[in-house]
Amino acid sequence: MRTISQSGRFCAVCGTTEGPYLENLCEKCYKKENPIEFDIQNKINVIICPLCLSIKIQNTVVDTWNKEDGLEDIMREMVERKILEKIHTDIDYHYEFEDNIEESKIMNYGVKEFELRTNITAKPFEEFSEFEKNYHTRIKMVRTSCDLCVRHKAGYFEAILQVRGENRKLTETEQENIEGIVDRIMTRYIDAKMSYIIDPETDVDGFTCKVSTKYLAETIAREIKSATAGKMNVAYELKTKNKEGIDVYQNTYLVRLPEYASGDIIEFENKMWIVKQITERQIKLESFDNHEQKKFDRKRIENRGKKLTESVVEREFLLVSSDGMNVVIMALDNYENFDDDLKRIPLNKQVGENIMGFIYEDRNYYIE
Ligand SMILES: [Zn+2]
Ligand SMILES: [Zn+2]
Repeated sequence: MRTISQSGRFCAVCGTTEGPYLENLCEKCYKKENPIEFDIQNKINVIICPLCLSIKIQNTVVDTWNKEDGLEDIMREMVERKILEKIHTDIDYHYEFEDNIEESKIMNYGVKEFELRTNITAKPFEEFSEFEKNYHTRIKMVRTSCDLCVRHKAGYFEAILQVRGENRKLTETEQENIEGIVDRIMTRYIDAKMSYIIDPETDVDGFTCKVSTKYLAETIAREIKSATAGKMNVAYELKTKNKEGIDVYQNTYLVRLPEYASGDIIEFENKMWIVKQITERQIKLESFDNHEQKKFDRKRIENRGKKLTESVVEREFLLVSSDGMNVVIMALDNYENFDDDLKRIPLNKQVGENIMGFIYEDRNYYIE
């Protein structure tokens, strides 16, 4: 039924008297002059790396997805997001997706194709009927190793990490500590790109490994340095030219553990001491004369102390008796008795207890 307001009107282009009209045009002519189109991508390429499970979509790498989620949902979400990203319009629209992406097919190697249908509806003009259109997008999915994994497989590395002792071998505890530090850091970087170590080796001479990136090598080196009061230096070595012809340097990060380790026995200022603790600048020693602890400048000890750890002979003793000033000590290797000064015995030792120590230049020393 015609309304009063529409009576006598006609389309300025085709002349129809069938309304409704907008700007003097019928619906058909108006839409022809003001076409609505949505820019929906008709092709999307996805590359999934089966090794690190990184996903590259239209050349953008997406690697921060939760690997516990199913790949099917992730793929769907990423493709849909990609399509929506590309739609630039002021029109209010409604969309619905439908696809045939299937987890079981994604998991197969090789090239897979899926199709995604985007249904768009919009009602931009109050006067006219709704806009509705289906768009089709071909999704081409390839499972292939990403560049980074290819490099990894090829044994690519940018740095070498070395941990050594300053003029000495590493103790077993130190070797374990260093391995522990490296393990902890690698757990932290388990999901990070390009973060791996190759050929780790620990022995009395130290720890060595190849590290994928300089950044990671420096991170590990710094943590070892601060945990051990060691010193770090970096050697830059020109290695090769990369594909672009730019020089690539392979760095060596060397951490040197302090010359003295906790438990070392040293002679300093004509007295015998045991090393209790080392920091970047100081060294804490305990005297064998009275078991008092004292801090010294680390450099001073390193320059003037004499390390005797290797020269002493371990010995076990028994505290036989004490009169509050003097004690009788028995060496457990030959049951010989010695008189000694109570001050030289570790604090809180009771008569009848064993004492670990050593003998050096015919004199007994008591550690604990
Ligand atoms: Zn018309
Ligand atoms: Zn990969």
